[in-house]
Amino acid sequence: MASLKGCVAVVTGASSGIGEATARDLAARGATVVAAARRADRLASLASSVANVHAFECDVTDVASVQRMVDGTVAQFGRIDILVNNAGIGLTGPAVQVELEDWRRMVDVNVMGVLNCTHIALKHLVEAAAGPRGVADIVNISSVAGRKALPGSSVYAATKFAVNAFSDGLRQELASKHVRVSIVAPGFTKSEFIEHIRPDLLAKIRASLEAMPAMTAEEIAETITFCVTRPAGVSVSDLLVRPTEQER
Ligand code: NDP
Repeated sequence: MASLKGCVAVVTGASSGIGEATARDLAARGATVVAAARRADRLASLASSVANVHAFECDVTDVASVQRMVDGTVAQFGRIDILVNNAGIGLTGPAVQVELEDWRRMVDVNVMGVLNCTHIALKHLVEAAAGPRGVADIVNISSVAGRKALPGSSVYAATKFAVNAFSDGLRQELASKHVRVSIVAPGFTKSEFIEHIRPDLLAKIRASLEAMPAMTAEEIAETITFCVTRPAGVSVSDLLVRPTEQER
């Protein structure tokens, strides 16, 4: 697999789960990684335990915060070759029971967060693609829910359908500029994802969620690394990755 030595990668939502595992994996391949999320303590402990991972506190829903993170990355490391838009939340539950605020937060983080980071980082990615590596990468984390909406997760599914549509349009737009856009759509993966569901709703479904077949965050991180380590002429547009025993 190609080395990422000399590349600068930004991973959002890197304070836990898939984002944290991706930050570790990209750094192990030689990239300088900016790990961005809101929980500064978790980022600091990641950065202190992995060489080449640097913590940057950032709320992807806050444009000024994203601008500071992108500007800070370029000021400190000179470039952005890879953007992994991973930050996301799934506040699932029956439509008659969840709060409207939960729906708004999912749209803010899962859709606006991706748009904020992409819009602000884009000129740096285009610049990087014109350099010696000959390519730059945006990897957007979608979900199986981005292919099929299910009861209890209609708004989460809507946000991931939006991520897919945005990614495919952007991929076509950026193809001639050599900025690859990949969708990685995981099935059920062990992380802190379910812990953000409202406690009363989670209490009813925790046992069944914990009994479901699940992948590790590291297994999805490897898939993300796969996308960004293809030869410059190869773009992995869309990968759906499920636990073997997950049926839908
Ligand atoms: P985690 O809850 O472990 O990680 C979510 C990450 O998103 C955290 O690092 C969190 O950091 C970050 N985040 C949330 N809100 C914000 C915000 N406003 N600004 C910046 N960062 C934010 O879950 P996963 O690792 O499982 O989730 C990662 C991605 O994978 C998400 O996009 C999710 O939709 C997707 N996914 C997950 C699946 C699963 O089964 N786990 C299945 C399919 C897709 P902090 O709170 O510190 O800001």
